[in-house]
Amino acid sequence: MPYRLYADAMFGSLGKFLRILGFDTLIAPDHLLDKEIMVDLISSKRLLITRDLEFSKIYSKYLELNHLDHKLILYIPSTILEDQIYYFFRHLGIKSSHFIWNDINQISFLPRCSKCNDLLNEIDKETIKNDISEGTYSRFKKFWRCNSLKCNKIYWIGRHWDSILEVLMSVKKKENLL
Ligand SMILES: [Zn+2]
Repeated sequence: MPYRLYADAMFGSLGKFLRILGFDTLIAPDHLLDKEIMVDLISSKRLLITRDLEFSKIYSKYLELNHLDHKLILYIPSTILEDQIYYFFRHLGIKSSHFIWNDINQISFLPRCSKCNDLLNEIDKETIKNDISEGTYSRFKKFWRCNSLKCNKIYWIGRHWDSILEVLMSVKKKENLL
């Protein structure tokens, strides 16, 4: 996905979800001051996703004064993940169906690491045999490893993916209703 995102600290869960869908997403650490977030945003030109109305107004003013794209800011008041994803897709003009899979081995996006945002590489499960449990090794076929040497997290298509699909399906329902 070409979109580069910057989620404020209140959107940690959304940010991690969007990373799994392949969006390059930075999540602001809790302790960051608004001023520091502004500096990050201005230098990175990422799309800000925020629930902070005051801050979104300040940043919006900045974008306007500097003739920058007002679409670089997305204010979402909802605390419900499904709603947040719905508003996010709508803002970018994309549909949930793009991400919904019939066959998990043929997903249409390249997932990123939910922990650190780096790209994942599909790996041969023999190479990680000692890093995962025997049960996981025998039950699953497809594995990825995070590119970042610091993180190196291993992923597989476990039950977590069912809940991702469920969330996407309820976003789709919402799209059809509204
Ligand atoms: Zn990682």
